[in-house]
Amino acid sequence: MTNPPPDAAARRAIAPVICYPNDSLPAPDMPLLAAARSTARKTGEVLVPPRDARCFKVPAGHFFRITSVEGPQVGDLNLWNLHDLSERFYSGKTRALHGTHVTTGERLWSSFPHLRPMATIVADTLDWYGIDEYGGSVHDVIGTRCDPYTGNLLSGSQYHQCCHSNLTRALADHLGLSLAEAEPAIHDVLNVFMCTGFTRDTGQYFMKASPVRPGDYLEFFAEIDLLGDLSACPGGDCSAEHSSDAAACHPLLVEVFAPAKGALTGWQSPAPNGYDRSHGR
Ligand SMILES: [Zn+2]
Repeated sequence: MTNPPPDAAARRAIAPVICYPNDSLPAPDMPLLAAARSTARKTGEVLVPPRDARCFKVPAGHFFRITSVEGPQVGDLNLWNLHDLSERFYSGKTRALHGTHVTTGERLWSSFPHLRPMATIVADTLDWYGIDEYGGSVHDVIGTRCDPYTGNLLSGSQYHQCCHSNLTRALADHLGLSLAEAEPAIHDVLNVFMCTGFTRDTGQYFMKASPVRPGDYLEFFAEIDLLGDLSACPGGDCSAEHSSDAAACHPLLVEVFAPAKGALTGWQSPAPNGYDRSHGR
């Protein structure tokens, strides 16, 4: 261990600055979205079975809601541009822009070179939770997704119902791809309803029993045409373990809603990022 320098305390005492002050981010027009939502009618639904995943499409300008049904359950969400799988949800940049957990009024951003809002969160029945005494909060963009590779690394297991595999199977089935073709498109997720944080003493990623109960939901406005893929995590409410069949698991409901014609007057689907991509050449 290196000896601390004489001014160690002074260096530690420097106040942090926010990396990405987000007050200049293009803001969603929440009153317009709320007014449009009040005109919307349901156009479809998908029930995601426990320890499995399902894909769903949401046209730009429509809403989709993920609801806990039957029992507390965490979901791992992937999103792509429906017409271009290379544009996908970018959890790391969403975290850098909004923080470790997301809620109403915040957005899910897409990968480079697009970097635009894919979806805006318009309702969150767990927004009351805030940040608990352990530093935990809900709907994180810090976890990656449970996967069989990490399980194998840690315990030598061959478990096939991790979110990574569930998402892979669902995408393969939806697009008629082989598993090998579908797998590279699977990416780090939004952990819907999952309650997580980092321990203050060791900085380790932790999870705890989700506060979600049947009837709770997280609802989004689709900013572009979306293909979604949602896994009902084998961890159930993630109170104990994942990557096994030990936890009680429940389905998750995805519903899509279309606003009335004309309800979104003044709204435009966001254009791809304006950087010119010349990279200094
Ligand atoms: Zn999972």
